[in-house]
Amino acid sequence: MPDPETPTALVRRARKTDRVLAETYPEARCELDFEDPFQLLVVTVLSAQTTDRRVNAVRPTLFAAYPDAPSMAAADRARLEEIVGPLGFFRAKTESLLKLSAHLVEHHDGQVPPRLVDLVKLPGVGRKTANVVLGNAFDVPGITVDTHFGRLARRLGWTEETDPVKVEHAVGALFPKKDWTMLSHRLIWHGRRRCHAQRPACGACPVARWCPSYGEGPTDPETAAKLVKTEARR
Ligand code: SF4
Repeated sequence: MPDPETPTALVRRARKTDRVLAETYPEARCELDFEDPFQLLVVTVLSAQTTDRRVNAVRPTLFAAYPDAPSMAAADRARLEEIVGPLGFFRAKTESLLKLSAHLVEHHDGQVPPRLVDLVKLPGVGRKTANVVLGNAFDVPGITVDTHFGRLARRLGWTEETDPVKVEHAVGALFPKKDWTMLSHRLIWHGRRRCHAQRPACGACPVARWCPSYGEGPTDPETAAKLVKTEARR
């Protein structure tokens, strides 16, 4: 049996993995389009249970009609439902946007607050959404533990935790704070393109050398290459 990995070795391995991911995916970023913190908050809420691509398609119409919290808080429900309709769960999503906007108007002068403690008090906003907004609209480092991030952090042997907040803290301890936001993008990017929940493309994985789960998916390079989702194939 190999010796258990020391905490220092784990930090080194995790950071090396992130450096290779940074070289592999220099274009990694938030895949939701937005122009200001309000837009990012809204599109992140809308991205639940759907794809970023679908949300990006709805965005121009949505913000042309309701560019800020006051106008969205006063929106006609039926019209808003119609706009977010293509995203599924349109009634619940419309309700979330109306409540969220009304809360911003009532408690924050219509602006998105730049602090985690305030963001998580907004209706329908959890830590994941709050960290997306902090990291991408306010440049405050944040770790976004979505389904991809959690799966990859465990596969890479960075943590065994399953609770998203515990994953956030465990992984945060391995990296300098300034790297948290980009680390989140890179891990999620890798999860969407190669390290799929079902059949990860292990044989075409640039970080296989540092991954204890190598072999969870096909290791044959040709088979694995077919599993990689390129921009054209996504
Ligand atoms: S080796 Fe396989 S399991 Fe490990 S990160 Fe790469 S694709 Fe994922």
